[in-house]
Amino acid sequence: MRVERVNNIRYEYCSKKMFQLLRQHPSWSIFIIATGTIAASEVIWLAYKSICKWIRWRKAQVHEVLMFNELGFECMQEHRKSSENGRLYYCQNKHCAQANIDRIIEQLNKAKYSIDLAMYSVYSVEMTRALKNALLRKVVVRIIVTLQRGDKTNYLLVDLIHHGAHLRNQNSNYFMHHKFCVIDGQERVNYLWSLKKRNYGPETTYSVLINGSLNWTDTGIGVNWENVVITSHPKMTNVFQSEFDRMWKVFSTNTRK
Ligand SMILES: [Zn+2]
Repeated sequence: MRVERVNNIRYEYCSKKMFQLLRQHPSWSIFIIATGTIAASEVIWLAYKSICKWIRWRKAQVHEVLMFNELGFECMQEHRKSSENGRLYYCQNKHCAQANIDRIIEQLNKAKYSIDLAMYSVYSVEMTRALKNALLRKVVVRIIVTLQRGDKTNYLLVDLIHHGAHLRNQNSNYFMHHKFCVIDGQERVNYLWSLKKRNYGPETTYSVLINGSLNWTDTGIGVNWENVVITSHPKMTNVFQSEFDRMWKVFSTNTRK
């Protein structure tokens, strides 16, 4: 009890002394108040920036599974007819295969720097249109495919190359059977940005992986049982980006443009 009383007396004495000093030197009061205000506003600004960054990160997170099955096939004919006739079709099918395709295209439309596609077969008008739009936004598009002899007439790929896409074909007797796509892979974005030689970093991006059994072909979409996983998990996107970069080097001796 005695120690506590002594401490209280000391505290009161110090407080009085401090107020006396501030009264005698008003410029110090102004300095302390100004410094405190600046420090507080800095803390609020940093907290605001952190919250905004967190909200952007939360919005960019995607983890979903798309299932293509007989429940989604029913409306595909209607979608195709509507597309050919240039009219809108409001689909009520909860398992709609077209809605799944739209989810993939939505991710492609968000690409800011890079799209790396390893796809056994590419013959989808809708998907290649999304890739072409990405190229028009100056996104760097690399594609690894397995081209058969007849594939030389794949006008969709030829059109993509015409718009600036880079294409490589497997140079092996074994099939490059992957069906994955990495959008804005972190390593790739860092590399592309380093080529610009800027003294500041790239705009914040979030990598996305699209992977599954689906070949991006009009004949396969909506008529086969397939699965596609879309994820922004960095562990997943990094592994697929590394494998794509590795394959890109391995297949470099067989480039078709
Ligand atoms: Zn539908």
